[in-house]
Parts: sequence; structure tokens; C-alpha cells
Amino acid sequence: MLSLRSYAVGRWIEGTGTPQLLLNPATEEPLAQASSDGVDLAAALDHARRIGGPALRALSFAGRGALLKSIAQAMQAHRDELLDLAVANGGNTRSDGKFDVEGAIATLFAYAEIGEKLGSAKFLVDGEGVQLGRSPRFHGQHVCVPRAGVAVHINAFNFPAWGFAEKAAAALLAGMPVLSKPATSSAMLAHRIMEILVDAKILPEGALSLLVGSPRQLPSLLGAQDVLAFTGSGDTAARIRALPNIISESVRVNVEADSLNAAVLGPDVEPGSDMYELFLTEVQRDITQKAGQKCTAIRRVVVPAAVASNVRDDLVEMLGAVRVGNPALSEVRMGPLATAAQLADARAGVQRLAAEGNLAFGSATPFAAEGVEAGTGFFISPVLVEFAAGAAASAAHAHEVFAPVASLLAYSGEAPEAAAIVARGNGGLVSSLYSDDAGWIEATVFGIAPGNGRIYLGHPKIELSPGPGTVLPQLVHGGPGRAGGGEELGGARALAFYMQRVALEGSRPVIQKLLGTQPG
Ligand code: NAP
Repeated sequence: MLSLRSYAVGRWIEGTGTPQLLLNPATEEPLAQASSDGVDLAAALDHARRIGGPALRALSFAGRGALLKSIAQAMQAHRDELLDLAVANGGNTRSDGKFDVEGAIATLFAYAEIGEKLGSAKFLVDGEGVQLGRSPRFHGQHVCVPRAGVAVHINAFNFPAWGFAEKAAAALLAGMPVLSKPATSSAMLAHRIMEILVDAKILPEGALSLLVGSPRQLPSLLGAQDVLAFTGSGDTAARIRALPNIISESVRVNVEADSLNAAVLGPDVEPGSDMYELFLTEVQRDITQKAGQKCTAIRRVVVPAAVASNVRDDLVEMLGAVRVGNPALSEVRMGPLATAAQLADARAGVQRLAAEGNLAFGSATPFAAEGVEAGTGFFISPVLVEFAAGAAASAAHAHEVFAPVASLLAYSGEAPEAAAIVARGNGGLVSSLYSDDAGWIEATVFGIAPGNGRIYLGHPKIELSPGPGTVLPQLVHGGPGRAGGGEELGGARALAFYMQRVALEGSRPVIQKLLGTQPG
């Protein structure tokens, strides 16, 4: 069986001890094994800090951007192989796999372009200089320089390619070396990407390391110049944040966690209209794409009570048409969940929702998936749970079921009630609004804005609308509260996490000469 290795201190290292098995989640066939035991984590971090950091900091933004472009091109050259792994180890349909792998490549290209635009600089001049006293000689200027530590990236199982790439793109461009740890259950894709990059000798030594298997005590080895970007459950994030060194060393931590993303239909939208059809299409796509294992997936479908039964009947019909089964089959539209543990969690979550609402479609019980032996694979049907009054529901606003599961919640159609219902999620990555009523849009956008990282305004005139579930490199990804309080991406904004902002204060000519900002 294939043994996944870690890449650290400039070489591949095979783990010792009892490995964890990686399965095909549709067939439960073992595909590979992984263990991080025996990898000297302190040495791996030290090597990245000492060798990788200086090598990256010696390059300009354009030079680092060129590295990102080469990474993207290398991945593109192996696209089909990577998609096959996304299907086999991730339970993705080919289309789901493209969402992950092509999303990763596109994000790397986007950051390569930002690097090219930032040009020959090695640090960022932040904003305009300011006169600090009566004399214009006394001058202040902020600059952002790369941190001198290592960026540790801990990723969730659902986007092994994109999660790796979107974090690495920002860190490498900022000038920080990366140690990336994919979730073990779906690590084959990240591992293969690392093999491709090492074979292609794209990056300077120490700039990128990979830890496969358990994180062991990795977060507790971080110090003041290091940063940790984590994607996963709120519970794990809370444990990491409470580590003594994270507190005492003020280790910068970015968390992307759970989210009960809402899609809200405005009161002006008539069943059958283009806006209504767009709403249904995007809700259905978000419930079923990647079997609902998307942090940005719509979990709460909030609709005026007057059309709630139309929406229910239409969604039930659409969900009923989705073919669920082995994602290796081209006719299958939705694959399994990633692991047996995720399936058990999802079933428990559906029961929790159904205890309060009515199951309009699907259930927690096992069902026959296409193309696999009966009883094999971590499959669940799409599930829609209906609640008569959205504001009165409880579990729907409190519990994220990381699966193809959504709650249908009725409201009055009034903007304040819509905003109050969205706010019950206690902080989200994205909410989406579907309406042509400018007054309702304004009241709802500003009602929900403080609780969301992104607001998507759906409109049928947007060609090839990606829907709210697609994270774009130009826009921030993250959200307050339950969503972790983090922020990734957002174009050049993402670099700030990996850089130290320093205020320089002194004589204007000296500072301007130092920064190369002297006029004329
Ligand atoms: P998880 O159990 O928290 O695992 C996430 C990652 O953390 C994995 O790489 C895991 O490694 C690692 N990990 C586990 N325990 C750790 C510890 N004590 N210290 C350091 N790392 C540790 O989360 P999950 O259940 O796999 O992921 C699903 C959750 O992620 C969902 O709740 C979803 O909402 C969230 N998510 C959020 C986003 C976002 O961008 N906001 C994106 C995707 C997913 P092992 O795999 O080796 O255990």
C-alpha cells in the first residue's frame, strides 16, 4: 500500500508507528496510509525559519509571484491526475474535484499576478507618510515587512488542493516559508501536489514543507514570529487558541471555522421569475456540491412564508433528481461524505434538526447509492428540513451539519426579521440575498453586514453566476463569531497576516531615502 511521506528539512520522511488508513469513501477500499510519528517537528520548523525564510525574503514580490505562477503551471500540467485523486480519496465527482483543483490553480495565478504588480519591492509601504510635528521634517510612515518565522497551515479535509494553495499563495508571496498540514483522511491530493512541486524543483529549499498525518504537538512549538492559519472545526480552533505558547508568545492565529450560511429570498420575488429560478438553482447546487461539505454552503434557506410551500415543493423535486453514488461514475452528481465519522456526525445532525422541524426531503437513514455494493460507502441523501417559523427554530441556527443538509425557514418578508434570523447564526462566512427591491436590499445588507464576511447579491443578469459558495481570491474569505473571526484572501489584503506592520518615525529625508519614496 502507498505510504504517504512528509516533506521536511529538505527531504521526504516516512512516518513510523501505527499509520492511519486513507480510504476511498465510496467503496471503503484502503488507498494509502500515513503517519507523522518520527518526523522531528521542531527541526522541520527550524529549517523553514532558518533556510526557507531568508531565501524568500531575498526575493522581490515579483520573484515570489513568479514562484506561484510556476506552482500553478506545474499543477495544471498534472490536472487530470489530481482530479483522479480528488475522486478516489475525496469522494468528489469530477466536477467537485475541479472546484477544488482548478480553484487552487486559479488562486495561485491570481496571487502570482498580484506579485507581478507589486514588482521589485521586498516589503510594502503602507499608506501615505504623515507630518508628525510643526516641522515637515518630523515624519512618519508605516511599512509591512515579512515576519521572520514560519507559517503553519492546518487544513480541513474538504479542500485538500484549494486549502493548501490559497493559504500558501498569500504566505509565500508575503515572504514567509510554509509548513502545510492537510487533514489526514484526504491527504493524498496535497501529498501528490507536494511531490510534483519537489520534483519540479520550483521553490527554494525550506520554503515549503508538508506534514502528513497527525499534527501531534505542532501548534505548541510556535513562537512570536510564527503564524498559524487553521481551517476546521470551531472545537479544534478553541483548543489551539488556548495553548499556553499561543497566548504567551502572542502567536498570530487565523481561524476559518463553522458557518450557518443563509440564503434569503426577498418578498418581491415571484415563483417562476428568473430571480426565483436562480435562487432555487443556487440553493440546490450548494446543498449537493461536494456533498454539502463546503464551509460556504447554504445551510439556512430563508423564504417569505407566502412562498415557502412553493420553494419546498420545487427544491424537493430538484433534490429528488440528484443521482447519488460512486463519484467515479459520470452520471453521478453527488458522492459520499469524506469519512465514517463525518457520516455519523451528519446523521446525528439531521436527527437533531428533524426533532424540531419536518423532513421535507431525505433522512438520516442509510439508502441505496448507485454504483457501490449495498451498505458500502459513507453516503447520505440530500436532506431538507422545513420549519414553519424561522425565528422560532433553534437547532437550525446553532448546529452546522457538514453534509448535504439545509433548513428551510419561513419569515414575514420584512427586512428586519430577515436580518434577525441571519444574525441567529452568530457570525457567518457568507450570506446571500435574492431580490430586486432596492429598499429591501439596503435594509437587509446593512442589517446583516456586521455578522458576515461576505454578502452575495444574486441576480439573474450575472452571466455564469458562481453562487455564494464559491470563494474568489479577490474577495475576503472568513467571518466573525462562529466562523472563526478570520480573514483570508481578499487580494493583497491577505499579505497583512504574514507581515509585521512597523511605524517608522524620524527625519523625512532619511525615511524617504530608506524606503525609496523621495519625491522626483
Ligand atoms: P477538524 O477535526 O478540526 O480538523 C481540521 C484540521 O485540524 C485537520 O487537519 C486535523 O488533522 C487538524 N487537527 C485536529 N486536531 C488538531 C489539534 N488538536 N491541533 C492541531 N490540529 C488539529 O475539522 P474537520 O471536522 O476535519 O473539518 C470540518 C470542519 O471544518 C467543519 O466544521 C467546517 O465548517 C470547517 N471548515 C471551515 C472552512 C472555512 O474556510 N471556514 C473550510 C472548510 C471546513 P487530522 O485530519 O490529522 O485530524
